[in-house]
Amino acid sequence: MKRLAVLGYPVAHSRSPAMQNAALAELGLGDEWRYEAIEVAPDRFEARVRAMAGEGFVGANVTVPHKSAALALADSLSETAREIGAANTLSFAGGEIRAENTDAQGLLDALPEPPNGARALVLGAGGAARAIVWALLREGAEVEVWNRTELRSRHLCEELGGTPVRSPSVPDHGIVVNSTAVGLHGEDPFAELPLVAGFTADQVVVDMVYGAEPTALLRAAEAAGARTVDGLEVLVRQGAHSLRLWTSREAPLDTMRAALIDK
Ligand code: NAP
Repeated sequence: MKRLAVLGYPVAHSRSPAMQNAALAELGLGDEWRYEAIEVAPDRFEARVRAMAGEGFVGANVTVPHKSAALALADSLSETAREIGAANTLSFAGGEIRAENTDAQGLLDALPEPPNGARALVLGAGGAARAIVWALLREGAEVEVWNRTELRSRHLCEELGGTPVRSPSVPDHGIVVNSTAVGLHGEDPFAELPLVAGFTADQVVVDMVYGAEPTALLRAAEAAGARTVDGLEVLVRQGAHSLRLWTSREAPLDTMRAALIDK
């Protein structure tokens, strides 16, 4: 059995096992490969990861709060993971741990068109925002970053590029990405985020937050005629890249989407 896993703390909420096991089954690898969820506390993370290759693991996804620790313990890093400063995917081969970040490409693949030349507004300056800002800048977008705690957006832009902003003019941006946690527990995005001016029909609006129903933010964007991308699509796309790294097979995107909705 070739084993894969997602490591987090907590991790019980993760939809990755349902999504990845459905993909493995669709590819005819279901008898040979299995993807599981492993809860591991930060002080046990490094020892747990170092034991995995000997337990038949081929790779792992890494989620909150381990993305920086995953980068730190790896023997080799992709350029993307190194520049973003976080890894969400580990591969174990030849006695080596290799770290990659597929969140950045996942976001780019989920967009309806390449962002080059667009003016983009990223809300948030946490772990998800780092990959998003890096990806948009790499593709040639002009990126502004707003965060509730101003110091964090300033630091993020100093490290990765982009411009920290205090009072963004939302309608002036072709792409708006919510990478804050606002909406995760039903918070009103219009109360918590600088969105008073609302959305316009020529925008692409991405909400990294996902749940069973479209978020209030995406419902408002849709009502304004904007094109929308939900967090589930970004999750599918990053998962597809990870699966490709481990299995060298093209990921069955529709199967993965369906598995997430059923979960
Ligand atoms: P994180 O590192 O903890 O960052 C949280 C961010 O949310 C910070 O910018 C924080 O601002 C902001 N925030 C929290 N509560 C807020 C409020 N009431 N008003 C304004 N801002 C608030 O988390 P993360 O890893 O970046 O994840 C952020 C969200 O993206 C989560 O909902 C997560 O589930 C989602 N996500 C989705 C995917 C996907 O594939 N779809 C991948 C990764 C993450 P402060 O700095 O001011 O605290």
